[in-house]
Amino acid sequence: MHSLKGSDTLDWQPGFAQLGPAFVTHLQPTPLPNAQWVAQSPEVARLTGLPQDFLQTDAALQALTGNAKLPGSQPYASVYSGHQFGVWAGQLGDGRAINLGETLAGWELQLKGAGRTPYSRGGDGRAVLRSSIREFLCSEAMHALGVPTTRALSLSASDAPVYREITETAAVVTRAAPSFVRFGHFEHFATRDMQANLRALADYVIERYYPECSNGWPSADGANQGNAYAGLLYAVGQRTAHMVAHWQAVGFCHGVMNTDNMSILGLTIDYGPFQFLDAFDPTHICNHSDTQGRYAFNKQPQVAYWNLFCLGQALLPLIGDEDITVQSLEAYRPTFSYTFRHLMCKKLGLPEAAHAHEAAVTPLIGQLLELLATNAVDYTIFWRRLSLSAQEGDFATTRDLFLDSAAFDRWLLTYQELSALTGQGLDTNLMLKTNPGFVLRNHLGELAIRAAQQGDFSVVQELHHVLTHPFDAHPAYEAWAGFPPDWASSIEISCSS
Ligand code: AMP
Ligand code: MG
Repeated sequence: MHSLKGSDTLDWQPGFAQLGPAFVTHLQPTPLPNAQWVAQSPEVARLTGLPQDFLQTDAALQALTGNAKLPGSQPYASVYSGHQFGVWAGQLGDGRAINLGETLAGWELQLKGAGRTPYSRGGDGRAVLRSSIREFLCSEAMHALGVPTTRALSLSASDAPVYREITETAAVVTRAAPSFVRFGHFEHFATRDMQANLRALADYVIERYYPECSNGWPSADGANQGNAYAGLLYAVGQRTAHMVAHWQAVGFCHGVMNTDNMSILGLTIDYGPFQFLDAFDPTHICNHSDTQGRYAFNKQPQVAYWNLFCLGQALLPLIGDEDITVQSLEAYRPTFSYTFRHLMCKKLGLPEAAHAHEAAVTPLIGQLLELLATNAVDYTIFWRRLSLSAQEGDFATTRDLFLDSAAFDRWLLTYQELSALTGQGLDTNLMLKTNPGFVLRNHLGELAIRAAQQGDFSVVQELHHVLTHPFDAHPAYEAWAGFPPDWASSIEISCSS
């Protein structure tokens, strides 16, 4: 009944499941009635090597909602553990994510919300439409912004009820990533002292994703020479530093940086209570359940480091030396600082040459962030206006954002002096390609969600288009680039919905 257009079979490679039953449980998704498409990403279909027109088939709709098997796919859920909010949480695992396998193009496909698994604990294995819309849109928006992230192939909905604070309906996001391995996968086998499994996992990840690590990492004294596991820890630290630097530069708050939500590939994963900052507040907490502010915006770089230490602890038996383990994480901080400064220079339109003026650039960025905070300036609008002002050579519209315009003028002077010092002026094209007009603010997600809950998926699709072209002008959607409405601040989003 559900035949695949363009190809009768899909080609898969053994992938993660080849690690065996200690790592995965094979199972089938639980069907959902009356499936319909909400949104799709043809770009991800191409990337993952799916047959042309795959997403246009009913077979794909049924398979990606968990109602039919994809030829050749042997679905599974994987086991992991982790630290949640700084506390060891024990075994977790894919409680509502079912992996379809790895395509020949090297992409794992995963259905999020496709039913219970042996790792569901008390949960129902489902995801509600509301949170699935947010995950679908944000995955693709982050990619368009240049932030390392898992991708989203499709979003389908059902009228099946899902019980949260109120009764909602179910949806499934098909996620795609080269790997869904998390720090928590390593912690799982390490805390249970299952060294052979720990080694098999590390060897698999190194061989598949970090072949350059098999000789250790490039420390000056060469002490780690040949220590592939130290090399892995170092390289994961580097990728994580890049990811978090991007978050800080774009104003993204993840909200649940538990070690089970940290990708071994340094990809942003598990979009839950995330938020793009509206008014710049470095202490902003986007997760309503995070009462202590552990995952506040300005804590993210330090929390990632803490999480990397958990990974280091898990890899210690393989690395075999505590000093080498600690040393292999030392490069995280400088790499984070360097990458953050580099990204901020791009936002400021300062050329590579500005790096030579580190002593001037670092305080310029610091003073700006302080000004944005004390004047509660909208983060995204500031950068976009600064880019347009620089292009026009008139900073009036940017100045208007500051209550203390004299303080802005003082900063502007320093900025212009620095730009003159580099001898190249401001690169306004770079600024316009780096500072988006459109990000997935909470209230925009909310508009799409409210329409979708009434059966109208057009706003999700239009937002998908705009957010995947965030640097372009979209005259019909100007309002989406504007200030958030008053009701935006009353939106409350917490974990696992
Ligand atoms: P999260 O907070 O979404 O990262 O989820 C933490 C853990 O809870 C993971 O192991 C998830 O698979 C699991 N989980 C979250 N929501 C559900 C659910 N509705 N049903 C089953 N497991 C869930
Ligand atoms: Mg999670």
